[in-house]
Amino acid sequence: MKTMNTSFPIDKLRATRTPFYFYDSGLLRRTLKEVSAAAAAYKDFIVHYAVKANANPKVLRIVSEAGLGADCVSGGEIEAALQSGFNPTSIVFAGVGKADWEINAALDTGIFCFNVESVPELEIINQLAEARGMTASVCFRINPEVGAHTHANITTGLAENKFGIAMSDMVPIIEETSRLKNVKFIGLHFHIGSQILDMDDFRLLCLRINELQEALSARHIEVENINVGGGLGIDYDDPDKNPIPNFKSYFKVFAEGLRLKPDQKVHFELGRSIVGQMGSLITKVLYVKQGVNKQFCIVDAGMTDLIRPALYHAHHYIENLTGHGEPVAYDIVGPICESSDVFAKDTKIAQCKRGDLLAIRSAGAYGEIMASQYNCRPLPKGLLSQEL
Ligand SMILES: *Cc1c(COP(=O)(O)O)cnc(C)c1O
Repeated sequence: MKTMNTSFPIDKLRATRTPFYFYDSGLLRRTLKEVSAAAAAYKDFIVHYAVKANANPKVLRIVSEAGLGADCVSGGEIEAALQSGFNPTSIVFAGVGKADWEINAALDTGIFCFNVESVPELEIINQLAEARGMTASVCFRINPEVGAHTHANITTGLAENKFGIAMSDMVPIIEETSRLKNVKFIGLHFHIGSQILDMDDFRLLCLRINELQEALSARHIEVENINVGGGLGIDYDDPDKNPIPNFKSYFKVFAEGLRLKPDQKVHFELGRSIVGQMGSLITKVLYVKQGVNKQFCIVDAGMTDLIRPALYHAHHYIENLTGHGEPVAYDIVGPICESSDVFAKDTKIAQCKRGDLLAIRSAGAYGEIMASQYNCRPLPKGLLSQEL
């Protein structure tokens, strides 16, 4: 039995044209409060919000007002962050393919640091910074091979990965940086994946970071900043039972696992865990169609509004907000001309009829921001609870 949700203002949702994203700003604020309080237990922990998860300006504004930094992966995200009040000196900029204009914009903005993912990128940042008479602070994104169960051997070759720098290239690139005049090495960056619920993955990351730090200490290389990336997962199965991720235990893993040097800062880049649970895609039932062996519930939202199920077979809990009959099994599908336009297969929800409102839950992260206009559909709006 699922935990029941009572927070949807059904009458107001009914009065709004579907499909749209409903953002529970109260939950967002409570989540931000918890993440900030949990991080504040450790004086050198700094939390950035991964803008790519949800860049709705109203959401960004609430996040910036809570005092988080911003983790950006494009010039557009840096601009969005600035427009929503994020402090430029709290912005970190990652991405394997930073274009010259994006690097220049970041330099002009005075961001905290570039998370650099290759030697050619480092050289271009150095060149562009030189042209401006500036010094760019850089962290290196290292691929820590978390998942490998052998003892770390930093000279071992890596499987090719477009993200990050192989561990074996870490020392040479840091040494190269000391020869370049317009870049300054300030730290290491990691990001091992997303929707991670097994804290052992993060424990392993800590072990790997400690090993890398030892190798650097042996060469008298100082690391001011350790950025452990994001990736903390959320409960897609029961969002009402776990509306706020357990940030306390998450931070504790790093506090216990990392062997930090005095004054070393630890940065986090959390996306999904901050905005995932506050968002629902609200959609209306258009038709209930009897197939040969199953029933289809055809709704007015599609993969253009929320692509995660089609793209990664992601599971979202779906509830019927206006129908409360016996559960019936449906394939819940959208109107897009693609067979993959399916939100859920053979899922049981309260019997649906035309006009019912469904909430596709846990859709605050990688939802609205990934929407497209395929089939000439309008983009879904993202509305805060108080805007309805
Ligand atoms: C996507 C991304 C994040 C955020 O990941 P979540 O799983 O949403 O927390 C953080 N850092 C980097 C570099 C990313 O690419």
